[in-house]
Amino acid sequence: EDVVNKIAAGEIIVAPEHALKELIENAVDAGSTALEVVVKDGGLKLLQITDNGHGIDKEDLAILCERFTTSKLKAFEDLTSIGTYGFRGEALASISHIAHLSVTTRTKESSCAWRAHYADGKLVSPKPGQSAEPKPIAGRGGTQITVEDLFYNVPSRRRAFRSASEEYAKILDMVARYAVHCSGVSFSCKKHGSSTADISVPTAAGTLDRIRQIHKVTVANELVTLEAESDRWGFKCNGWISNANYSAKRTTLLLFINHRSVESTVIKKAIEQTYATFLPKGSKPFIYLSLDIEPARVDVNVHPTKREVHFLNEDEIIATICDEVRSSLSKVDT
Ligand code: ADP
Ligand code: MG
Repeated sequence: EDVVNKIAAGEIIVAPEHALKELIENAVDAGSTALEVVVKDGGLKLLQITDNGHGIDKEDLAILCERFTTSKLKAFEDLTSIGTYGFRGEALASISHIAHLSVTTRTKESSCAWRAHYADGKLVSPKPGQSAEPKPIAGRGGTQITVEDLFYNVPSRRRAFRSASEEYAKILDMVARYAVHCSGVSFSCKKHGSSTADISVPTAAGTLDRIRQIHKVTVANELVTLEAESDRWGFKCNGWISNANYSAKRTTLLLFINHRSVESTVIKKAIEQTYATFLPKGSKPFIYLSLDIEPARVDVNVHPTKREVHFLNEDEIIATICDEVRSSLSKVDT
């Protein structure tokens, strides 16, 4: 059974950035307004995320890392939104099968913080001879999740990672995406032992400040807003897109569907094509898009291994967005 769990876990979490994405989403779901990430060896040695959200009840710690443990499916109807959020209650369980996972958490109601260690979905003692029960310790409100030695028991996966700096770059990219999308949350990300953060945005910085600071887009004359919606296709979207004053060698697409960072080759290609008529050859755009789609319309059969999302009336929705891109680009003087 453990082997099966390990394989399943390795399919959901393919690289450190995927573990981090799940942990960021959990922290945001917990209502956090501040989020700190610390990384060692590209996340393979250490991935630690500290939030100031509502915390986890001590009583829930025993089953926290069991598969399908979730506080986010309140009614059966919510099952229709599985496609939006990925499989429920699998992230922490998966991570516990392929890394050393520990959690320190404190709710508003609790007089202290609680610390627990996990392996293979279950509470374990941190040292031989000690109890596996959560221990009371001093700590502030919120949750700190520490993931150590990711893939320590999956040698094939571990060998696939050549360079810690490449993995760290992908981690920074993931933090940067969420930092733009979650503009009410402060973010920082740094290497373990370093005194300076590689990403640091205060709560007060709005979406535009964040795009400018993190993605180096000159906000004043390079970006325009984008809005599109259709009741017929059940979607709504808003975002910021670059105009003809901006140019890069590669397309930056920050795409969020129902507040989850996702990939979509189809959307990327369609938007690049739309830009091609407005930009000189080889010059690529910056696009931040937040798309809300009725959960029931997002593909519920998407397996967690697939980072690509599909939804009903994909063609129509993409065409509507591209029309909007075209009309905002043609408004701008070049
Ligand atoms: P899911 O997010 O799909 O519910 P996860 O495995 O990611 O499943 O998390 C399991 C549960 O653990 C969540 O439903 C939530 O109740 C709790 N949890 C995880 N991370 C945090 C956090 N940072 N703050 C508060 N609760 C958390
Ligand atoms: Mg989660």
